[in-house]
Amino acid sequence: MSAALPAAPLQVLCDQCGRDAGTWPFAARCPDCTGIFMVRPPEPAPPLPASPRGMWDYRDWLPIAPGTTPVTLGEGGTPLLRSRADWPFELAFKVESANPTGSQKDRPMALAITKALELGQKRAVVASTGSAALACAAYSARAGIDCAILVPADTPRARLGPAAFFGAHVFAIDGPFSATAELLGRLGPERGWYRASTNRRTNTFQAAATRTIAFEIVQAMGVPDWVVVPVGGGGTLAGIWRGFAELAAAGLAPRVPRLVSVQPAGLNIIGAALAAEEFSEDGVAALTARHEAATMMVNLRANRMSDLADVARAVHRSGGLALEVGDDAALAGQRRLACEEGLWIESSGAACHAAIARLAADGVVARGERVVGILTGAGWREELGAVPARIHDVPRDIAAEAVERLIADTRTDPVPN
Ligand SMILES: [Zn+2]
Repeated sequence: MSAALPAAPLQVLCDQCGRDAGTWPFAARCPDCTGIFMVRPPEPAPPLPASPRGMWDYRDWLPIAPGTTPVTLGEGGTPLLRSRADWPFELAFKVESANPTGSQKDRPMALAITKALELGQKRAVVASTGSAALACAAYSARAGIDCAILVPADTPRARLGPAAFFGAHVFAIDGPFSATAELLGRLGPERGWYRASTNRRTNTFQAAATRTIAFEIVQAMGVPDWVVVPVGGGGTLAGIWRGFAELAAAGLAPRVPRLVSVQPAGLNIIGAALAAEEFSEDGVAALTARHEAATMMVNLRANRMSDLADVARAVHRSGGLALEVGDDAALAGQRRLACEEGLWIESSGAACHAAIARLAADGVVARGERVVGILTGAGWREELGAVPARIHDVPRDIAAEAVERLIADTRTDPVPN
């Protein structure tokens, strides 16, 4: 083992009482206190890589054995783009949609599947209708292992096709949403199934990968004042928070940013948790069960297996905010990201833009402060709600002037805001 590698062996401890999880597979909850088992950060903190180009340049910070070969498709090292639009503060976008399967989930799934091979596992299973499913399918193909994806039967088939194309088997379950978790319970490690879902309780390892988003931001620009993150299950915001907090604790960053969670209108569970000062797993799960609203932002629908208590604690400790945005605002943000920035982001990720517009309108962020918005997923992965009126049916002998007039007429359409 070289000097640059973590000095201590990998430790997985209860995040509440510190009890050691023992050997994998770990229990879902600590038997002493019902806390959740977490990979302990390396101590002492390893140095940050001089010029990181991808997630695995941070491998000393990730819970893999020294001899393990990563299963990688080139995840991480995503662009940090300064906004071209006018804002009353400095704004940059961390473009996680640039990851191999188009979302931030590629980081945790690359780590989860790398860990599967390290542990000798041959069959991955994930309960997800969204980004985690597609990422699991792709990384399982790359690793040469089987992949099963569990979804409720009413999941639109268009969302499932790409995962099946990677060779994954998709099981559309006839029953309520809870039936998906029940089948996941039957496909466990005792039968040779490796659970790769991107929440901490189901897979402890994967959560460590999302910290690298924070590492990359700090190395590119220092610590911003605000970081705005769309929240579904919450693993992304919680992981980013942990990344900033670990760098600050190790003296590698001067402070942590304020975190802003963004959820769909009617589903602002984090706002409810902050208002009630409710930070326990069970308490936040109960709040989740009480929130029900229809939204097109499908990746931002939380379920009870989520990391939302972790998110509530992170937003609270950072002095941040919990915002909610409606579908119309998210769609407007989606158009502005496309037309103003050249970025095609799915509605769930574009909610971030809508929240930043709210911060600007409300004057919450001081002039000169620096804001980073996390753009989680690419727009090409969801069906277009409405095609913009820029497709023109024209005759073959159309004059140049007519082409130019059509463009000029269309340009007067305002980009919605
Ligand atoms: Zn415990």
